[in-house]
Amino acid sequence: MKQFTYARATTPTDAASSAAAHRRTRFIAGGTNLLDLMKLEVETPEHLIDINRLGLDAIEETADGGLRIGTLVRNSDLAADPRVRERYPVLSRALLAGASGQLRNKATTGGNLLQRTRCYYFYDTAMPCNKRHPGSGCAAIGGYNRIHAIVGASDSCIATHPSDMAVAMRVLDAVIHTVAADGNVREIPIGEFYRLPGDTPQVENVLADGELITHVTLPPPPPGRQVYRKVRDRASYAFALISVAAIVNFEEGRIADARIAFGGVGPMPWRDDELERAARGVGSDEVSLRTLAETALGDARGQGHNDFKPVLARRTLGAVLVEASGRTDA
Ligand code: SF4
Repeated sequence: MKQFTYARATTPTDAASSAAAHRRTRFIAGGTNLLDLMKLEVETPEHLIDINRLGLDAIEETADGGLRIGTLVRNSDLAADPRVRERYPVLSRALLAGASGQLRNKATTGGNLLQRTRCYYFYDTAMPCNKRHPGSGCAAIGGYNRIHAIVGASDSCIATHPSDMAVAMRVLDAVIHTVAADGNVREIPIGEFYRLPGDTPQVENVLADGELITHVTLPPPPPGRQVYRKVRDRASYAFALISVAAIVNFEEGRIADARIAFGGVGPMPWRDDELERAARGVGSDEVSLRTLAETALGDARGQGHNDFKPVLARRTLGAVLVEASGRTDA
């Protein structure tokens, strides 16, 4: 591990301005991803700013009936919160599908959003990787790419975003709140937070240098049944090959409205707008729902070892839609 300096921030603005004043700075909270990356020298910050004592660890009601989640709220606390369990079960289930109990006790809301890809080559400093070392190439293209993207990829990078929590937040239309070094605050809808890799895969989101996530707000939950389903190589402590978060509202035997987000398919939690439009009016019988699911992710393209993913994504969605319709044997 490279040497670095360390400071503890006392206010969010102090943290952001301190980050902007130093070279190669990283905020640290739970450290569940950053410390691994530092040990491997994938991340080599010169300065760490500890934000654990900023007091941003509350879950509060908002005036419009939603929730305000501090950036330091631990994943296990968020999953167990009775308001989340009752009103946002898709979020609670997604959180509990992620990592392990020990990691969820440390990992924070803000850190979960910002965690880096689990592409094997990103973690192997002997291999070319445009995300880790821009311009070096992408070992996953033409390499072993079983866990990689089927949508949103580029000729520079085919990595996926690994978060479960972010997939649920995407379907809930969460808003990410930040403070910058100059004290300015802004609100970023989660659908505008992540960037496609293009030819700059090292730039993963729209945050400026030193900009700190302070909290996330959830609007009131939309009507409908919430489902989260994750498909992975083992029953726990594994990242998603495919995950689906859905909120589906049925009225008079048909889908009145559907929100659907996929994880494990691209560089960000992925909404398929065309699919959601096509869902309206579809009957709630199993054949109609599974037929609808077959139309998902029309642009999906495998990279070789992950050619199974488009099929797996559609079958997982089919099961999710049937479960949302009220059947328990999907
Ligand atoms: Fe690096 Fe992205 Fe290629 Fe993985 S897919 S090796 S993260 S450039």
